[in-house]
Amino acid sequence: MTHKDKKESILPRPCNGPLYADWDVIDYVMKIKEEVKEVVEAFRLYNLNRDNDSYLHLGRELVDTITACISTLEKLGFKADDRERMYQEVNDSNAKRDGGKRFR
Ligand SMILES: [Mg+2]
Repeated sequence: MTHKDKKESILPRPCNGPLYADWDVIDYVMKIKEEVKEVVEAFRLYNLNRDNDSYLHLGRELVDTITACISTLEKLGFKADDRERMYQEVNDSNAKRDGGKRFR
């Protein structure tokens, strides 16, 4: 395998810039709530329209939610290495649960 063969992952970046300097953890948690509401609305529209625009919009809102969660984890002090370790722990845990039927 060469460096050209290795596909680099693109991970969500936590929103931690100056715009959020005065945000506390509760502000980040409320942002998750806001984004989840947007997911629910995007799903309602997708379910109604079943078109490509609403499909892409639903995907975007889901990624917004992931980003809000990553941002909250970082605000709580979980750095990138901590988060990767936690992803692995959750993946490992899910792999064992329900007779291993959570993953294909
Ligand atoms: Mg959104």
